[in-house]
Amino acid sequence: MHELSLADAIVSALLKMCANEPWGKVQRIRLRVGALRQVFPEMLEFAFATVVKDTALEGAILEIEEVPLEWRCLDCGNQWREDSGTCPFCGSFKRETLAGMELEIHSVEVEES
Ligand SMILES: [Zn+2]
Repeated sequence: MHELSLADAIVSALLKMCANEPWGKVQRIRLRVGALRQVFPEMLEFAFATVVKDTALEGAILEIEEVPLEWRCLDCGNQWREDSGTCPFCGSFKRETLAGMELEIHSVEVEES
């Protein structure tokens, strides 16, 4: 279950931020996760709740925004969403990933102290 190690990494990054900033209680964390990361949001939420127990983040809400896959053809420049393998416009195999690899803390809401 890689959601657990993911939650672990997110929580330790957040705890480091908490230690360096004069923050009050953290209320809400927004995460952007790309489709290519193959994360199950419910499992990540569950793992997060487990990891934050007895830390400064206990009780914080984790919101996960899933970012769909997006490709761009390197031959014709068209963009598309589904993972079709080849470009649906010209059939080229040359493509680059525009979106879907995200794994980032988008925002953190903190209680005013
Ligand atoms: Zn193309």
